[in-house]
Amino acid sequence: MTFNWVRRISKLSRWQGAFQSCIFSCKRYSVQEQCRVPSSVVEAFRAVTGSDGVSMGTAVREQHGKDESVHSCRPPDVVVWPRSVEEVSALARLCHQHSLPMIPFGTGTGLEGGVGALKGGVCFDLQKMDRVLDFHAEDFDVTVEPGVTRTRLNSYLRDSGLWFPVDPGADASLCGMAATSASGTNAVRYGTMRENVMNLEVVLSDGTIVHTAGKGRRTRKTAAGYNLTNLFVGSEGTLGIITKATLRLYGIPEAVVSAVCSFSSVQAAVDSTVQILQCGIPIARIEFLDDVMIDACNRYSKLSYPVSPTLFLEFHGSERSLEEQVSLAEEITKANSGSDFSWAKDQETRSRLWKARHDAWYAALAIRPRCKAYSTDVCVPISRLPQIIVETKQDLTQNRLTGPIAGHVGDGNFHCLMLLDPTDPDEVQRVQEFTDRLARRALAMDGSCTGEHGVGLGKRALLREEVGPLCMGVMEGVKASLDPQNLMNPGKVL
Ligand SMILES: Cc1cc2nc3c(=O)[nH]c(=O)nc-3n(C[C@H](O)[C@H](O)[C@H](O)COP(=O)(O)OP(=O)(O)OC[C@H]3O[C@@H](n4cnc5c(N)ncnc54)[C@H](O)[C@@H]3O)c2cc1C
Repeated sequence: MTFNWVRRISKLSRWQGAFQSCIFSCKRYSVQEQCRVPSSVVEAFRAVTGSDGVSMGTAVREQHGKDESVHSCRPPDVVVWPRSVEEVSALARLCHQHSLPMIPFGTGTGLEGGVGALKGGVCFDLQKMDRVLDFHAEDFDVTVEPGVTRTRLNSYLRDSGLWFPVDPGADASLCGMAATSASGTNAVRYGTMRENVMNLEVVLSDGTIVHTAGKGRRTRKTAAGYNLTNLFVGSEGTLGIITKATLRLYGIPEAVVSAVCSFSSVQAAVDSTVQILQCGIPIARIEFLDDVMIDACNRYSKLSYPVSPTLFLEFHGSERSLEEQVSLAEEITKANSGSDFSWAKDQETRSRLWKARHDAWYAALAIRPRCKAYSTDVCVPISRLPQIIVETKQDLTQNRLTGPIAGHVGDGNFHCLMLLDPTDPDEVQRVQEFTDRLARRALAMDGSCTGEHGVGLGKRALLREEVGPLCMGVMEGVKASLDPQNLMNPGKVL
């Protein structure tokens, strides 16, 4: 690491030391008397975007200072709505000249406080850039602007026989999903955003426009140079603003069946999962719900599954291959004392089943109305799942906490949907301590403090523990090299 880098890094650390994480803070931000963006700069923004592309209204700023997490609202000073990459670049140049922080905003569904403007500055709301570009059905790829959400892309693709499978529960923007390295129920078969982004167009903090795999490149493989695409995937807006993403597409499977299976123990459910994967069954989804979560889903989504550890499974393939996959999976679950499969074969029943899984967040919230939910997210090697889930459930009971568990069990990734009354400081503290213990338990089992929600504001200390000081230094060096003034989403990740 060069001397320059070390100097830049120590400047960066001092800057960041000034930020205090506001996780679980019940206090409201203090309203800025004065906007930190000079009015001449606001006028210059208007000259770029037109007057309807800039807002300093309180409600708009507040709406952009918060995501779906429990982190308190930190509004930006100004919100801008660019309509093209050239406008993003021109706005970034202005921010750079005036040392103003820049915070990219997708759809605000993040769960780690990523969009909060800790130091004020300018929020780039990218929803007006919403075109699907360059669809190549024969090559299974498409390029989208940052305002396109995953359900919009799939509606666009519907008649082509192709789809994009990465599915976080929320209808997030695809570039926001790239920025957080999102995944969801289909990751066990189709991978996460890391495996499905082929190229990104990114505006750097000084307004420079780069293409991470080279302009227009869309190969399924490349061994050419450093993997800059994957550097930006998961960078949470701290390295640049993603203005285009080229994504891999897949054929819509000929046949799909879903099933539900109950078990007497967490161990039996996880053993079944491991054995299904070991047999090479190309399972498309395998989701775990603990007894508390399935009970909440039964009530919320009017289902009637047994209240015990449960797997939701889905198989994709041709009619013939499905028969084989399903009978082998059923044999395995039975050998682990699972119940008979309860089938969801027709589209309507399947949609109802997976809607119930995607509504788990709202089902959990309904357990304690008027409470807030905080979704923790950890990932461990699959073999460690039974131990970590059993220990976590004991921890919840000992600390009088409600935290139904749902997990993408095929990836070793699970969430506790912690319910808390934000006006009860004792409960808030117990939840905060619990989530830190859970992340450290995952780290002690060779795992990660986040499988998919990202680091954001709340997990910066845990990231440090996860990768260690040397890797942290490398990450800080990369940040300092791409964003020496620390203007891109300051106070997040590092
Ligand atoms: C009910 C519910 C269920 C969820 N389930 C899942 C799940 O199963 N798996 C999962 O992975 N996530 C899940 N999430 C979290 C969330 O949907 C993802 O993190 C999603 O990827 C965020 O996308 P967004 O467009 O809303 O980003 P935002 O919330 O707007 O932003 C998130 C972060 O990305 C940055 N960012 C956004 N757009 C850009 C851009 N164009 N360029 C650079 N940086 C950008 C922001 O600055 C911020 O740091 C869930 C959320 C909810 C509410």
